[in-house]
Amino acid sequence: MTQKILVLPGDGIGKEIVAEAVKVIDVLTADFGLEVALEYGEIGGAGYDKSGHPYPEDTKKKAATADAILLGAVGGYEYEELPRELRPERGLLAIRADLDLFSNLRPAILNETLADASSLRPEVVAGLDIMIVRELTGGIYFGQPRAIESNESDERFAYNTMVYKESEIERIAHSAFKIAMQRGKRLCSVDKANVLEVSELWREVVIRVSAEYPEVELSHMYVDNAAMQLVKEPKQFDVVVTGNLFGDILSDAAAMLTGSIGMLPSASLNASGMGMYEPIHGSAPDIAGQNVANPLATIMSVSMMLRYSLDNAVLADKIDAAVEKVLDQGYRTADIFVEGMKKVGTDEMGDAVVAELKA
Ligand code: NAD
Repeated sequence: MTQKILVLPGDGIGKEIVAEAVKVIDVLTADFGLEVALEYGEIGGAGYDKSGHPYPEDTKKKAATADAILLGAVGGYEYEELPRELRPERGLLAIRADLDLFSNLRPAILNETLADASSLRPEVVAGLDIMIVRELTGGIYFGQPRAIESNESDERFAYNTMVYKESEIERIAHSAFKIAMQRGKRLCSVDKANVLEVSELWREVVIRVSAEYPEVELSHMYVDNAAMQLVKEPKQFDVVVTGNLFGDILSDAAAMLTGSIGMLPSASLNASGMGMYEPIHGSAPDIAGQNVANPLATIMSVSMMLRYSLDNAVLADKIDAAVEKVLDQGYRTADIFVEGMKKVGTDEMGDAVVAELKA
């Protein structure tokens, strides 16, 4: 049965890197029997330009019937003065909420040949393989009430609400335990239960869910310690599960352990396994249109899509192996370039992966 992939290139380098990922999908379709149909739409600034909204009705309609979504990135200098609700980033929050993409998978894997690119010593990070599972549709980014107001003496004050329902914690815990079962069977739940009631409930529910996964070794860590441990001894972690705010910060820190933001894919899944796949980086307006952006995070997002939404681990492994091979052969975009390697542009890097897949 043909599965439908909605392609949302977005803004800035989004268009360039998605074009390379589509080349990879095309090869898998032409040569390896992948049965998918691609449909295109706009999001972020591109959505605003075309339809006056960062998450246009047309995109929403297409997303509702897609089996998976491939997204580039959103954002750009030209949209910074727009009212908050029309800014590109609001498009991302809207599609995540609309499709109930509550489980955000952020792997931090360090290819052996790139160990020197990390700011940490190679022996601390070489062979790193962490999966951070971040709750994506709840917590303080969505909690009500939220506002900036003024008091009687005209002093402004602002507040947000960190809130989690038991059902929200339960489903992200199940998602994380299932991933831990497919990996090293160790799960670390990160919270701030010594200070926050939300975290107290989080911990209680995670412990309750753990009874259904007796093979998984569960541990708990306060978020401040987790931040320290991530840079001190990152290889101690297998799977980490945490809420939206803590996950946002920790997953970026974990990403930088690997040296390049251009190398890391991500997945955001809902309860039925439908998912949106995107690189973790933004639209990089500083390098957009120059054919220098690294497309590998987006190409590896296609691999995650095959694994988690399209049920095709064989082709996912094939992409991962091709990327590994291309790096072993010395191909490097500017962000991961070191002397002695072959410096290539965005499209040449995509072509190298395609050539390796066909080899
Ligand atoms: P960014 O991730 O776009 O860029 C940070 C730095 O990393 C820049 O120097 C950029 O050139 C570099 N970089 C990023 N991706 C790269 C790649 N594939 N290859 C080589 N270098 C790469 O973050 P930013 O500069 O803080 O934000 C730029 C815009 O992107 C903003 O509008 C922001 O809101 C938006 N943003 C979007 C997302 C998303 O779409 N998921 C995520 C983060 C930021």
